[in-house]
Amino acid sequence: MIYRVSYFAGAAVARLVARLPDNYHRVTLGEATDAVNTPAVILVDAVIDQLERALVLKRRHAALEIVVLGDASSLPATPSEHVYAYLVNTLPAGIIAQALANAFLHAQLREEQERTKAHLERLTAESQKLNAIGIALSAERDTTALLGLILSKAREITQADAGSLYLVEEEPEGSRQLRFIVVQNDSFPAPFEGSTLPVDSQSVAGHVALTGEVLNLQDAYAALPGTPFEIDRKYDGQTSYRTKSMLVVPMKTPDGRTIGVLQLINCKLDPGRRFGTREEIEREARPFPARFEDLACSVASQAAVALENNRLYAELRAALAKVEASQRRIVQAERLRALGEMAGGLAHDFNNTLAVVLGRAQLLLNQTDDPELRRQLRVIEEAATEGARTIRRIMEFARKRRDRPFQSVELNQLIREVVELTRPRWKDDAEARGISYEVRVETAPVPPVAGDPYELREALTNVVLNALDAMPRGGQITLATSGEGDHVRCVVADTGVGMTEEVRQRMFEPFFTTKGEKGSGLGLSVMYGIIVRHGGEVDVESRPGQGTAFTIRLPVAREPVAPPAPLAPAPPRPGARVLVIDDEPHVRAILMETLTRDGYRVTVSGDGREGITRFDAETFDLVITDLGMPGLTGWDVAHHVKRQRPRTPVVLVTGWGDRLSLEEIQERGVDFLVSKPFALDQVRAVVRRALVPR
Ligand code: ADP
Ligand code: MG
Repeated sequence: MIYRVSYFAGAAVARLVARLPDNYHRVTLGEATDAVNTPAVILVDAVIDQLERALVLKRRHAALEIVVLGDASSLPATPSEHVYAYLVNTLPAGIIAQALANAFLHAQLREEQERTKAHLERLTAESQKLNAIGIALSAERDTTALLGLILSKAREITQADAGSLYLVEEEPEGSRQLRFIVVQNDSFPAPFEGSTLPVDSQSVAGHVALTGEVLNLQDAYAALPGTPFEIDRKYDGQTSYRTKSMLVVPMKTPDGRTIGVLQLINCKLDPGRRFGTREEIEREARPFPARFEDLACSVASQAAVALENNRLYAELRAALAKVEASQRRIVQAERLRALGEMAGGLAHDFNNTLAVVLGRAQLLLNQTDDPELRRQLRVIEEAATEGARTIRRIMEFARKRRDRPFQSVELNQLIREVVELTRPRWKDDAEARGISYEVRVETAPVPPVAGDPYELREALTNVVLNALDAMPRGGQITLATSGEGDHVRCVVADTGVGMTEEVRQRMFEPFFTTKGEKGSGLGLSVMYGIIVRHGGEVDVESRPGQGTAFTIRLPVAREPVAPPAPLAPAPPRPGARVLVIDDEPHVRAILMETLTRDGYRVTVSGDGREGITRFDAETFDLVITDLGMPGLTGWDVAHHVKRQRPRTPVVLVTGWGDRLSLEEIQERGVDFLVSKPFALDQVRAVVRRALVPR
């Protein structure tokens, strides 16, 4: 062991130093010398007071101990706590040498302690930094911002001048590639291209993605012997940058998948340094120290977790939004179904009343020529007809069954018709009022849907008319179609006033309108009823001031269905015998009078039992029966008639026509259906048709 002893020249000290054994390395401290940076002992002569200078040195260098030497009288009464030992110079040289050796060991221990402390401090600081990075990364929900943050934090902790980040993309067929996502450079503006790299050992990033290993290159240009990859110098070529030291680490998830690569470039001593030229980089960029590998890996795996979490979070949110939307739709459908039940029941009752009012008015009209009476009867007829129209629209919303079989409907063709039908509203009227609408049709080739063209045309017309209402100062309507799996999607978007959330939630309710007197509140109810009957769906996106988009989805027609051939008008058959069964005396009377006027021989009956008795006793060419009656119902009557004389046609008159399917009524013996309230002409036409011999 060599002991390093420094001393200030003083008589007592000089004498002692001269007598020290050979393994003492002696250094005289001159006036200006304070270069003591290895463990050492300073000997100070108590007589020549140089303790002050020694203390200054000790404050600067922790690994240093002071020993004061003097005769008994020159040593101080109160010792300084910074002095390792006070020795009387008359002690034997061996003892003094021993004391100096102890002081030296002490200094050495102290130095080690300082080193350990510094190391610990650095580790603590680094782990605090990593912690902070982890928190920052996990708090960032915006994925683009997160990717930038990952790279800047990784560069910060490894003091890298530049860097880039790649993500592994999995192709549907299973192959993988690296996508270049972010680039950062403190010194040179970094051009960015959204390019991709194969996951293979041709490139540094590809190699790391493939193997999951860390690469730490002292100089990217000096190809390491035995390495397959090559540095792409294109970037340096474009920017006059110099990629020198490189630390490339994989971003691995806890289950060991590599989801990306962090490439850190040019480690610098001073993190604030900006390089001005290639030469500066050449000179100053240093290799990444081994401990930065661990730091970069830590950041990279935290980054991988944060990215995975963000992906899961986004997936969850999307799933939640879907659930919420479908829940809203279910609640809405349920509410509208309940409303439909109620409205349907009400409409049925009103139908019976209106049938009487309308029928009476029409009968009386045929019986009088008095102009004033006729005028008043017309008013009643009109009011009843208007009421019947409203009821028909409510039924349109409420009914579940269709009364005509579905056919193949070309939605694009239908849209063109709707545009033409509404032309007076968006073209002529609008021009007269000095406003203009732009109607855009953006159809794509789509398969036909299964449906009733009349109903679908009405549904779309209602949506278009609403869109026009929503743009009182003009605007744009777009009608678009597109295929969506086994559905066809039709979007009607306007640039109008939009809807509040409250309106949006209630718009399908019958009679809900924000248009006061001018609105009926039935347009969308009818549309909704029609689309639901078609097995379709309606979604509406709207915000006040931002326009509205209705999206209608309808199922594609499975097989082509031809429209039914129109029926030729039937010739009259005067003298035919008709049996009318209805428990409602007014309806009975109206039918009786009307048909008698047409030349039929009519018999009426007030209930089912009586009707059947009459039927069995006489011969009839036709039976007209009400459905809902106390005692025997219309079904019972039809059943009886068909059992006795299968060839006698049966006409069922009912306010519930919409709830019955064609198959159902035919199975139960009914040949024709007349819905209440009926126009008398309609009844007459049905009777004629029913009497055509088959
Ligand atoms: P009406 O048109 O008679 O008011 P609807 O059932 O057709 O009845 O529409 C109900 C309500 O829905 C409207 O009063 C309106 O507030 C709202 N609405 C429908 N379509 C639109 C649209 N395209 N833009 C803004 N609001 C609309
Ligand atoms: Mg409307």
